[in-house]
Amino acid sequence: MIKKTTMLEFDKKHIWHPYSSMQEPSDMQLVTSASGVYLELENGDKLIDGMSSWWSTIHGYNVPQLNHAITHQLQNMSHVMFGGITHKPAIDLAKKLLEMTDDSLDYVFFCDSGSVSVEVAMKMALQFHQSQGDTQKTKFLALEKGYHGDTMGAMSVCDPVTGMHGIFNDVLHKNLFAPSPTCQYDAKWDDSYISAFRELVEENHKQIAAVILEPIVQGAGGMNIYSPEYLKQVKHLCDRYDLLLIFDEIATGFGRTGKLFAYEHANVIPDILCVGKAITGGYMSLAATLTNQKVVKGVESNGNVLMHGPTFMANPLACCVANASLELLTSSPWQERVLNIQDILKEQLSKCQALAIVKDVRVLGAIGVVELNQHVDLAWMSKAFVNEGVWIRPFLNLVYIMPPFIITKAELTTLTLAVYTVILKFEEIQ
Ligand SMILES: *Cc1c(COP(=O)(O)O)cnc(C)c1O
Repeated sequence: MIKKTTMLEFDKKHIWHPYSSMQEPSDMQLVTSASGVYLELENGDKLIDGMSSWWSTIHGYNVPQLNHAITHQLQNMSHVMFGGITHKPAIDLAKKLLEMTDDSLDYVFFCDSGSVSVEVAMKMALQFHQSQGDTQKTKFLALEKGYHGDTMGAMSVCDPVTGMHGIFNDVLHKNLFAPSPTCQYDAKWDDSYISAFRELVEENHKQIAAVILEPIVQGAGGMNIYSPEYLKQVKHLCDRYDLLLIFDEIATGFGRTGKLFAYEHANVIPDILCVGKAITGGYMSLAATLTNQKVVKGVESNGNVLMHGPTFMANPLACCVANASLELLTSSPWQERVLNIQDILKEQLSKCQALAIVKDVRVLGAIGVVELNQHVDLAWMSKAFVNEGVWIRPFLNLVYIMPPFIITKAELTTLTLAVYTVILKFEEIQ
């Protein structure tokens, strides 16, 4: 116990955690190990992980195949620079990514994190126009409630309200924002759903380098799930006005929505595709930006090349564990599992709808969202979830879960029951 206290005290005093105060730090859980869907705490308690460590651990923790792959690669070569050098883990991974995605996507740029893959996508789009002599096209058209990462370029296309525009407004690149799509996944389409987006395109297309959005599910900016028809309409406008289309599938990629990639719900293929998070099964930080021949040709007009090259580009350990993760995914009944999770979430979360504090319940694939009428008390709610034996971390007015695909029905039931119980308690103390 003494050890734990001193560790947590040191942490509190010296270590930054995401979006948190160093001067008024919140309580931390000290996790000592993780296996399957369980996080084990220092006191021996086990929590069912409802977050998949932010969308990434789709196979759960301590996965024998992934452990084996990374250990094996470690003995061979943990890292080597990617300038002038290549290696099998990167080549194998690029092959897999190109096989899994649409035939038109033919080129892979490896990045060290999701935010960086978004920066690279944005640079591809900007260089595409620049190289061909069009200096007008410097803006991006993004969506409200969008989230694309925390680096400067990525922040500039995040939701202007829930994102960090308030703080960095004067230094962020000024982009254009269409309202967040309001047409639900199954809703009957009405032209009014796309009219604001269309007007922005019609008025500004000469300045727009690319449209960037998260297809079907907007994640960390608002957990919004919307109609595939919206993507078809966006694609139609991009074709008509010759705009590049960037899909950020860092959260939705690799099966989470019930399709391998969310764009498959609409059969709309982007010019540039960002993937990350679940790519390594949550073992290491890795992401990639994929693109097509049109973009490569455009970027490389007049003797230019794409200007990016991270130190840890295509890190062999990360590529190797990604290869093992994607093999495990494609050889597993992942779609059956995800659709099964979807059915259970729909059935079990629906009773939250009866609570007065609940505004909406929505589910797609292995994602379940309960939207409240008011913001949650994060500290209170995190603790309440831990008391229920689960790890769920809400934000704003959103309580949501996206468990590992390997979760059993009994474990999932514990998660959804905890969601209901904790929201009910929260309602009672208001
Ligand atoms: C998490 C996320 C990012 C940023 O990825 P990092 O690896 O955290 O930099 C970008 N876009 C989406 C949709 C994400 O969910």
